[in-house]
Amino acid sequence: MRVAVFSAKSYDREYLSRANESHGHELTFMEPRLTSGTARLASGFPAACVFVNDRAVAEVVAELAAGGTRLLALRSAGFNHVDLAAAARHAVRVARVPAYSPYAVAEHTVGLMLALNRKFHRAYSRVREGNFSLEGLLGFDMHGRAVGIVGTGKIGECVARILHGMGCRILLNDVTRNPELAAMGDYVPLDRLLQEAEIISLHCPLLPATRHLIGDEAIARMRPGVMLINTSRGALVDTPAVIEGLKSQRIGYLGLDVYEEEEDLFFEDQSEQILRDDVFARLLTFPNVLITGHQAFFTREALTRIGEVTLANITAFERGEELVNEVRWAG
Ligand code: NAD
Repeated sequence: MRVAVFSAKSYDREYLSRANESHGHELTFMEPRLTSGTARLASGFPAACVFVNDRAVAEVVAELAAGGTRLLALRSAGFNHVDLAAAARHAVRVARVPAYSPYAVAEHTVGLMLALNRKFHRAYSRVREGNFSLEGLLGFDMHGRAVGIVGTGKIGECVARILHGMGCRILLNDVTRNPELAAMGDYVPLDRLLQEAEIISLHCPLLPATRHLIGDEAIARMRPGVMLINTSRGALVDTPAVIEGLKSQRIGYLGLDVYEEEEDLFFEDQSEQILRDDVFARLLTFPNVLITGHQAFFTREALTRIGEVTLANITAFERGEELVNEVRWAG
C-alpha cells in the first residue's frame, strides 16, 4: 500500500523502513507536518502515517478523505491530535500504537525528577567551567518522599514501580484502579494527592476532563515547594498558572517533556530563530525548570516497536483484517 509518512525525521525513515522489510509497503517520507496546508501531499495515498504534532483536525481529515486516504496510521499512543468524529464522518479509519515502551517514558520521567532534584543540568555546566562549588546544588533524598502519580495506566505503573524501588511513598489517582499497584501505594482522591505529594507526576491522557487539570485551584492546594512533572500531554497543565506558581514558589521544581503549544516548537532545530512564544520564554528563565522537547519516548526499543506496530496496522487494514489497534469515535 502507498503510505504518505508525514513529519518524517531520519529516525522515522530508519525504523519504519526496517520494520517495512517484512511488509513491503511503498513508504513516501515527507518532512512537513500534516496541516491544512500540507494535507494535499497525501492525495492518492490510501494511508497517511502521522505523529503527535501532525494536526488531523476536521478540515484536514476532509481533505485527506477527498484525496483518497482511508487510513490514518498514528505512530503514537495518544490520539488527541485527531478529530475522530470527522474521521468517522469521512470513513477514514484510525489506528494507533497503544503501547510501545512504557519504560522509555517512565525512565525519562524519573530522570527529570532526579536531574531537577540533584541539579545535574547546572552541575554539568559548572564543572565544565572549572566551578566546583556546591552552593545552590543541595538536593533531597528521594527515599521516603511522597510521590503522587495521576494516571496509573502503563506508564504510571512503571513510574510507580521505579519510585517504589527507591523507597518513595506512593499516592495514586485514576478513574480506574490498577490491581498491579495495590501493594505498592494508596489510591486517594486527587485533592488529597495534591495536598500530600511532594512530587506530582502526570500520566493521564489529554481528554476534555483532564485539560488544564493543573491550574490555579490545583496549584493552590499543593504543598509549598512541590515538584511537578509532566511527560504526558502539554495541555494537562495551564502554563500561565504554573508560571505564577513558580513565581510564588508554591512550585519548587518543574519538569516538562510536553508543552501545550509545542507543535510550533518541538522536533525542529529552532536555534537560529527568534523565540516568539513569550510563555515558553518565561519558563526558560527559571533555574528550577527543566524542559525536554517531547523526548521521553525516544529509545531504540520504542522506535522499533512503533515501526513494527504501525506497519502491522497498515497491513491489517490493507488485507481487510481486524484492526486491533483501531481508535473509534465514541459518539
Ligand atoms: P494508559 O491508557 O495505559 O493510562 C492512562 C491512565 O490514565 C488510565 O489508567 C486511565 O484510566 C487514566 N485516566 C484517564 N482519565 C483520568 C483522570 N481524569 N484522572 C486520572 N487518571 C485518568 O496510557 P499510557 O500508555 O500510560 O500513557 C499515558 C499518557 O502518556 C498518554 O496519554 C500520552 O499522552 C503520554 N505519552 C507521552 C509520551 C512522551 O514521549 N512524552 C509517550 C507516550 C505517551
